[in-house]
Amino acid sequence: MDLKEHIRAIPDFPSAGILFYDISPLLAHPGAWQATVDRLATIVEEHKPDVLAGIESRGFLVAAPLALKLNLGFVMVRKQGKLPGATIPYTYDLEYGSDTIEIQADAVEPGQKVFLLDDLLATGGTMNAAARLLRSAGAEVTGAACIIELTFLKGRDHLDMPIRTLLPYD
Ligand code: IMP
Repeated sequence: MDLKEHIRAIPDFPSAGILFYDISPLLAHPGAWQATVDRLATIVEEHKPDVLAGIESRGFLVAAPLALKLNLGFVMVRKQGKLPGATIPYTYDLEYGSDTIEIQADAVEPGQKVFLLDDLLATGGTMNAAARLLRSAGAEVTGAACIIELTFLKGRDHLDMPIRTLLPYD
């Protein structure tokens, strides 16, 4: 099945000059979404993680079905201020300014093997920040996967863990 048939490219979103890759048609098609989850599950299993981490917000959609399918726990990596109770933050630089992501303080245990998931890899800044956050909490990041990779941005070159993606766009 060609999963790219279910990815929609939308020009000028969220701002002029940006071509946004939209996974909504993939989510709306049960067969294509099942195939996506199955392909990612094969990748995740190779890394033998203890827990999956999804990056807000479309990363949740990717990680949650995989966690159920593989009988693994699921941790949310969220933007600052969304998670209740004690949290561990990580602040990282953006092109203009900075951003902060967090996990709950008890989300991972020291030494736990965590596998990271998101919908799309662009510059790699978000994935890199999530890996650093999880490591600061004592976890070991065994790898990461996304559905889409914008290969021309070379995001994977900035990551210090194995990254696998299903659909490259250049
Ligand atoms: P990066 O930090 O530059 O790698 O950007 C990746 C993050 O931005 C991911 O969390 C994506 O969900 C989001 N993102 C960037 N571009 C797109 C896009 O074209 N479609 C969907 N999400 C995107």
